[in-house]
Amino acid sequence: MADKIGVSVVGCGFFAQNHLNAWRDLAKDGVELIAVCDIDAAKAKAAAEKFKVPRWYTDLDVLLAKEKPGLIDIVTRVETHREQVLKTVAKGIPTIVQKPFGFDLGDCRAMTLAAKKAGVFLAVHENFRFQAPLRRITELLRQGVIGTPSWGRVSFRTDYDIYTGQPYLLNETRFVINDLGVHVCDLARAFLGEVEHVTCETQRRNPKAKGEDTATMMMKHVNGAVSMVECTYGAHRLPDIFPQTLIELEGPKGAIILYKNFDLEIMVGGKITKEHADAEVLHWAARPWHIIQESVLATNAHILNALRSGKPADVSAEDNFKTFACCEAAYKSAESGKAVALEPLQ
Ligand code: NAD
Repeated sequence: MADKIGVSVVGCGFFAQNHLNAWRDLAKDGVELIAVCDIDAAKAKAAAEKFKVPRWYTDLDVLLAKEKPGLIDIVTRVETHREQVLKTVAKGIPTIVQKPFGFDLGDCRAMTLAAKKAGVFLAVHENFRFQAPLRRITELLRQGVIGTPSWGRVSFRTDYDIYTGQPYLLNETRFVINDLGVHVCDLARAFLGEVEHVTCETQRRNPKAKGEDTATMMMKHVNGAVSMVECTYGAHRLPDIFPQTLIELEGPKGAIILYKNFDLEIMVGGKITKEHADAEVLHWAARPWHIIQESVLATNAHILNALRSGKPADVSAEDNFKTFACCEAAYKSAESGKAVALEPLQ
């Protein structure tokens, strides 16, 4: 068995349950949940009891004074990310922070540079590229099955009631691009390469939402590829396929298309190869969330392996800065009506 590593989870709300379950599954790889923290004592205590975590705290400063985690996993909402990450990085503790990395690119830059300067491992819990069908697409692209894609579409369109589980989303002034755009932009980068500039139109279909709930982005990639990247929480389509992402990629040798219900088609040499790329429903998971839940386990396992092998994670702070730079450019483009080039880290 691998060496033991003590993990602390900060924030024990809605999504943290998936992280806690995933870390518990990784006990076989030496993970030991040593402490949890939430400003809401009832949530911290409940998480500690459910996941048999020996200690719980209501203040990150106290946790950092008393514990020596080998890895800290921040699963609070975006407004707390910068302050918390700067604290854990200052203590030299390898850190994971949930998406969106920051509220704006300034936040992401401050955290990325702080970790870089201190030489501390910092990863963003960007999980979509770790979903089973999307991992399969990455594998096919690495094998060169369709050649280097020159065009793509990444699409997440739903009307699922996300507001019951995450009521705070209605009050976000930066809404769907910060919440979902980070995932779809990350996939566009993962499949088609780095982005040069972004054009974007936003819409607000739900009058109760403060921010935009629909975004249509077009990206020009550095290698000349072009992608259409879309996300909405206001698509009145049936059947509603939440939380599935649909993908289309066209390359010089063929195309890869991920249809609804994880049906994947690989079109090469005039032939179609069909695969069913659904994820395993883990013992703590339930449809339709299983696709996300299994990706949380895969993301945690990947980040843990990267940390142990002394390498940055595929979803390192520096990598995710580039994803967030797409989102920042999208907001600026929606405001100005012009194509906006991505900002560099420095
Ligand atoms: P939530 O409000 O349910 O949970 C956040 C928890 O953090 C709450 O329990 C709150 O009391 C606690 N908290 C707030 N400030 C704190 C502090 N200073 N110290 C310790 N605890 C503190 O929110 P959520 O829906 O679980 O979202 C958390 C994060 O997960 C967000 O960044 C969200 O974008 C992300 N998320 C990701 C996905 C995905 O598929 N990748 C899905 C849902 C949510």
